[in-house]
Amino acid sequence: MSHSQLVYDTLVKLKAVIANDHILYTSGKHGSEYINKDAIYPHTELISKICEFFANEFEKDQVDVVVAPALGGIVLTQWIAHHLTKRYKKQVLAVYAEKQSSGDFELKRGYGAMVEGKNILVAEDVLNTGGSAKKVVELVKDNLGMVVGLAAIVNRGGVKPDDVGYVPRIYSLVDLGFKMYEPAECPMCKKGIPLSKEYGKGAKA
Ligand SMILES: [Zn+2]
Repeated sequence: MSHSQLVYDTLVKLKAVIANDHILYTSGKHGSEYINKDAIYPHTELISKICEFFANEFEKDQVDVVVAPALGGIVLTQWIAHHLTKRYKKQVLAVYAEKQSSGDFELKRGYGAMVEGKNILVAEDVLNTGGSAKKVVELVKDNLGMVVGLAAIVNRGGVKPDDVGYVPRIYSLVDLGFKMYEPAECPMCKKGIPLSKEYGKGAKA
């Protein structure tokens, strides 16, 4: 079984990927699939395995520091750095970028100085438009780090290297192309299936 299939099947089993449902997205559109990334992080064996795949993929890039947007990304950076450290037999660091009220990300706590002149792997759990990943890539570049690539668990928006500030490559384990519909054209609505109250915007706040 391929890495991607293994990860996809596990995500479905954990209900981190919801399929065959009727979801109201934040955009107001409807669709049958949903990603509940909160369901991924409690499962440390899965996270470790995913991050080992990332470490295998980027080992040849001589990564010095792994950077990700908080919160979920913090978990990924720790595990990826752990697996790379074991391979290189020298310490790979893990830091994170925090979202500010302006919507931009910052490397606080002295982390900015840690990326300067270093080879940086950026990690993200789910790429939708790639907006957060792009901001983190640009932040690393502003701090004079060299981005070697972007690792993502799920790429659901067909995000490409150019969309995230020109990274050399994106490695994602699961690529999903969610179909979205205007409510008037939605096949689930036509069948009279009620909107999910468990996932998406239809869920209670
Ligand atoms: Zn619908």
